[in-house]
Amino acid sequence: MSQRIVIVGAGQAGARTAAALRRLDDTAEITLLGEEQDLPYERPPLSKDILNGAAPSKATIFPHAWYEEHRIALRSGVRVAAFDSRTKRLSLGDGESLPYDDLVLATGVRPRLLDVPGATLDGVLTLRTIGDSTALSARLTAGARVVVIGGGFLGLEIAATAVARQCAVTVIESGSELLPRIFGGFLGRYLSDLHRENRVDVRTGATVAALEGHTAVEAVRLADGSLLAADVVVVAIGAVANDELARAAGAECADGVLVDAQARTSLPSVYAIGDVARQRVHRLGESVRVESWENAELQAQIVANTMTGTAPAADAAPWFWTDQYDRNIQMLGGREADDLIVMRGEAGAPSWCAFFVADGAIRGAVLVNAGRERRHVKRLIDTRQRIDCAEIGNAQRPLASLTAH
Ligand SMILES: Cc1cc2nc3c(=O)[nH]c(=O)nc-3n(C[C@H](O)[C@H](O)[C@H](O)COP(=O)(O)OP(=O)(O)OC[C@H]3O[C@@H](n4cnc5c(N)ncnc54)[C@H](O)[C@@H]3O)c2cc1C
Repeated sequence: MSQRIVIVGAGQAGARTAAALRRLDDTAEITLLGEEQDLPYERPPLSKDILNGAAPSKATIFPHAWYEEHRIALRSGVRVAAFDSRTKRLSLGDGESLPYDDLVLATGVRPRLLDVPGATLDGVLTLRTIGDSTALSARLTAGARVVVIGGGFLGLEIAATAVARQCAVTVIESGSELLPRIFGGFLGRYLSDLHRENRVDVRTGATVAALEGHTAVEAVRLADGSLLAADVVVVAIGAVANDELARAAGAECADGVLVDAQARTSLPSVYAIGDVARQRVHRLGESVRVESWENAELQAQIVANTMTGTAPAADAAPWFWTDQYDRNIQMLGGREADDLIVMRGEAGAPSWCAFFVADGAIRGAVLVNAGRERRHVKRLIDTRQRIDCAEIGNAQRPLASLTAH
């Protein structure tokens, strides 16, 4: 009998798992269950092009016909209420019961909500779904006063798009600087300058005490007593893992479903991937939950490999990107405090790179409007190739010529 594989969560990781599985196993019965009504889609455009007015279909991963052609039973608008790993059955929101042999949890995350008075006033929004993006987009009219709470990547992208729509934008960040954990604050300092140059009022070390208004939000009250007039408030203060299903079924969870490097949870035949998965990192004795496009792609492939007994892919440096104003910013690998910083071009220029170098090899890099270099930099990082700092810092010397073939 063919394997019955059920994937819960029809987002990026869920859809990519279905595709990877079908490539590896022609006979498996694959069911993809998703609470949202839309065809599975990617979320990055929601804070960029779609927020700026592009058609939501831009984010669709596969057209409707693709699921039929690949014999994937996509069921949209279906919420999974519970599962039992002993009987290997799922209960759907409408009471239907469904059997499985292998179960993949790809339930993602939801926005963390602000816990202050006035947080439910009209005009206070979050951004996670297509509906959220179009609702926010409709409010970004020229001259609107937009207060973004949270100076992470999402908040900053929303700020940049709101500026492009001619809104007056303030970003409130409770930390003393932006993105302190990303390359030791290197990128945060660059982005706070970039946003200020674009007339965004970036306020770090500021805490929101209340949102004020009658039925709709009219102002944001900060803890120091100051008041900011607001037509729209966007709350972008991080996300909470949708791990309740797994927790109720007895899987080990800690803001995310705990998994090993093969995406296996603590329950037999149950896997978790994407934003909801928290991977144990034995080397460090800790665990990490990564919310990124690349992680969703990679973990989809990993779980498909695990379920079909295919060899795992080699480890590679993590990659993340953000688009703000006219800058495409790509981040690869990481940085330790003692790493040497080698610049290729100046940070004020439209295009530049920074490399974080340790023991003669690149550990991580920031590429600004230099996406064409990503392939070469990735190779230098993944192979830990020894480099000459003067050569990688010389913008006249093509990086392609430095990678060992
Ligand atoms: C606005 C925005 C911009 C982003 N920009 C970038 C970027 O520039 N670069 C980058 O690398 N990453 C970016 N990301 C992150 C990236 O989009 C996510 O990491 C990725 O979407 C994770 O995919 P996922 O499948 O794990 O989760 P999701 O795409 O969230 O999918 C989870 C799905 O599961 C469904 N679900 C949950 N519970 C149930 C249930 N019980 N029953 C049925 N269905 C359920 C949800 O409704 C959802 O559709 C961005 C994210 C957002 C929100």
